[in-house]
Amino acid sequence: VLNYFEQKCQRSKQLAARTAEVIPGGVQHNLAFNYPFPIAADRCDGAHLWDVDGNQYIDFLQAGGPTLLGSNYAPVRKKVHELLDHCGPVTGLFHEYEVKLAELIRQYMPNIEMFRMLGSGTEGVMGAIRLARAYTNKKWIIKIGGAYHGWSDQMVYGMRLPGTGRREAIGIPSGSTAYTQECFPNDLDALRRKLWLNKLRGGTAAVIVEPLGPESGTRPIYEDYNRQVRALCDEFGALLIFDEVVTGFRIGMGGAQGYFNVRPDLTVFGKCLTGGYLMAGGIGGRKDVMMLLAGGIGSTSKRAFVGGTLSANPLSCVAGYHAIAEMARTNAAVVAGRAGDRLCKGLSEIVDRLGLPYVVYNQGSIVHLQTSAVLLMSMRNPIKLMKEVNARKHMMEEMGAAYMAHGLVTLAGSRIYTSMADTDAIIDEALNRFETVLRL
Ligand code: PMP
Repeated sequence: VLNYFEQKCQRSKQLAARTAEVIPGGVQHNLAFNYPFPIAADRCDGAHLWDVDGNQYIDFLQAGGPTLLGSNYAPVRKKVHELLDHCGPVTGLFHEYEVKLAELIRQYMPNIEMFRMLGSGTEGVMGAIRLARAYTNKKWIIKIGGAYHGWSDQMVYGMRLPGTGRREAIGIPSGSTAYTQECFPNDLDALRRKLWLNKLRGGTAAVIVEPLGPESGTRPIYEDYNRQVRALCDEFGALLIFDEVVTGFRIGMGGAQGYFNVRPDLTVFGKCLTGGYLMAGGIGGRKDVMMLLAGGIGSTSKRAFVGGTLSANPLSCVAGYHAIAEMARTNAAVVAGRAGDRLCKGLSEIVDRLGLPYVVYNQGSIVHLQTSAVLLMSMRNPIKLMKEVNARKHMMEEMGAAYMAHGLVTLAGSRIYTSMADTDAIIDEALNRFETVLRL
């Protein structure tokens, strides 16, 4: 398979050799898929992606999740072009689309009483944590083991679960992570113990969760988990932060909070905001908490400082407004969810037929194809789980490369995002390609 991959992707290989000279690791994102070498994209459209060698792929990476409408969605692209021609990319002043975007988000997610636009999910998480600390006057933050909340000092901690070595945590002084704690997914007793202990030493500012479970449900949570976490937060006076960087709009126009009917105090947004069209992130939530961001130059009231030059650039705001409007108009989450259901059903049949030790499950447009060992251990023994994951990491990389060689892009060989552009015919073609690889 690797030979086949190399033959098909000669130009990518040449470019990869050049990137290795000037870009550490050859890619601009440490988590990016790059085995046996990174593939250089040429263009994307709807459900498909083409590389610089002219190979076409069915794209289930969908830029890491945001392009629910399909890649390079023409109606949003047109609005971005119009604004670019009219206004240019950045002015430094406020733009009408900022308020239109905030109002539209509130229309579909009523918990987002106020909204602050930022540049990425990482920034959104940093801002939400600062706000939670400012509001509660407490310092501890509890996250769930295995969850990814971006690469800030305080959150990159725990990219590997306790006991397995924190491989990503070099360059971060221990003081920066001193007030970040982790709980294993689904372990409510441990969460209660931590909240209780923290109460004796300054209190917990916030519990932050990915509402589908760590890494978009790679480690699934029980149906009632978010509700129980909400109740514990209320009991101990901590804020609940939902990280909806992936789930916002993808799970439905109301996000995961609408789906689970659980009200977070703060919500973090990311790339989902613009349907992946342009860089974006943000924080939204309760007005009394969000108002801590208010106050301008000359104001004497205290405020938490959050924001940047390009935070709410007009291009990202116009892309966000029209992407969200289009997701609502087209019922994108439901359409992409149906594609996810079809793919999940088809993959389950293939895995059963071939007798493979895989488990396939989905939450609408987010589909997981995992080894059953990984899944079972995620419930019982997280340390063993991470050992297993690390042991299989190379296997998953090889699987990812094999899928690519057969015209499928996935996230690390195990996670699949469908989009509104995935027709039944495309899903059926994808199933054929998956079966070819799974038979190898
Ligand atoms: N939170 C979650 C749940 C994510 O999946 C990601 C990125 N995939 C982030 C935060 C970080 O977002 P960004 O890459 O925009 O900084």
